[in-house]
Amino acid sequence: MLAELRKEFLYGGRALVRDNALSQRLVRRLRGHELMDDYALKVMGDRLLHRSLQAAIEKLPYYAHITRDFSPVEARQALRELFPIVDKSALLEHPQALYPNGGSKRPWQALGKTSGTTGTPLVIIRSLQSVQMEQAFIKRHWTWAGYVDGMPRATLRGDMVAGLDQARPPYWFENRYNRQLLLSSRHLTDHCVDPIIDKLRDYAPAMMQAYPSTAYTLAQQLERRGMRLHVPYLFTASEPLYPHQKELIGERLAGKIMDMYGMAERVAFATQCEYGSMHVNPDYSHVEILDEHGEPTDGYGHVVGTTLHNLAMPLVRYRLSDRTRWRHGHCLCGRPFPMIEPVTGKLEDRITGGDGSEVSPSVLTFAFKGVENVRKSQVAQVGPGLWELRLVPDARFSQADQDKLLRNIAQLVDATVQVKVVLRDELPNTAAGKFRWVVNEWQDGRRS
Ligand SMILES: [Zn+2]
Repeated sequence: MLAELRKEFLYGGRALVRDNALSQRLVRRLRGHELMDDYALKVMGDRLLHRSLQAAIEKLPYYAHITRDFSPVEARQALRELFPIVDKSALLEHPQALYPNGGSKRPWQALGKTSGTTGTPLVIIRSLQSVQMEQAFIKRHWTWAGYVDGMPRATLRGDMVAGLDQARPPYWFENRYNRQLLLSSRHLTDHCVDPIIDKLRDYAPAMMQAYPSTAYTLAQQLERRGMRLHVPYLFTASEPLYPHQKELIGERLAGKIMDMYGMAERVAFATQCEYGSMHVNPDYSHVEILDEHGEPTDGYGHVVGTTLHNLAMPLVRYRLSDRTRWRHGHCLCGRPFPMIEPVTGKLEDRITGGDGSEVSPSVLTFAFKGVENVRKSQVAQVGPGLWELRLVPDARFSQADQDKLLRNIAQLVDATVQVKVVLRDELPNTAAGKFRWVVNEWQDGRRS
């Protein structure tokens, strides 16, 4: 009962913040940008970029030496010539210089936390305005599928809507404040999935949000049962969408997949349109694609982004490990937003839990919820239902941190998997310079 009340407050409160009149005004304004011509978009981009760079110089010691004497028209040039490229390790190494107020959050600001795909915890300070903008950008993407507030939608992501040990329905929660059915992605097992399928069919959502891996698991279960569901639009995010997943999801679960590319640092946002193109949202952030020498490239390069909205802690020329390249030409959808090829670089091995079902990397990040004092981590499958959790601890790491990790895994990720914690001095990158956070070293564990 208490748990139910808590959910009411949580999701009801979220609805109040996210779905108010202001948010609808923001979405309308963002939709207007889709009708702009290239010149108007550039002028708006210059103005927003200028605002971000000025805020960075004013608020962050790292940029204090840079002149503020440039105009909006000169903002792109100033960005390239005056601002160095930074990345996650720079944020971790220079918190005093790259965080505002020496890293302490003001009461009116929000904290974004991520363990990310490298397994190193990172905190971002966000302005409330940027939090509202984020929601508006997501909702603008939803309108590309004809979805507006008030239509029913389903969510199959990492939300804890039912305990892992729960063996009877409901494995879901209906958030009546904004007609949302939250399904437990941890109960897509042979034993529990049938009531979930029935519920989803009855609810008939206009669209569903999911991780590619959770939607794929549901599609596999449907296939095993010789069944189909007809969700008109599936919005995927947070993980790469693999071709084999796309195919089976299209066959069993959803009419059209609308993928979304973003990250906790919020320096780039790309959304897939009805014609399948990934459009960079130029009003969300300023995106560059740079080669190994930090120069713009037409070939594949790293995504480097600058916020246009989070003035509380402006991330400027922040380099992601993700790689892609620009795609030239115009899209049939008519939107003036530039296009990129599908983003790669987040490829991870697939691993399985205690009962042999696939565990999503996004769900795996819950293991690190509230855990500190870990510099780097890696999760390896070393046998059936057996994981090795490799940690590079910092000096303050204690038994309590280790206990919390194991408790998180049992409560939030997989109750039946066996986990061995191994402390290491270093976790090396691959020969190609990439770090694989999730690895499967037990070859028989791979699914065909
Ligand atoms: Zn398009």
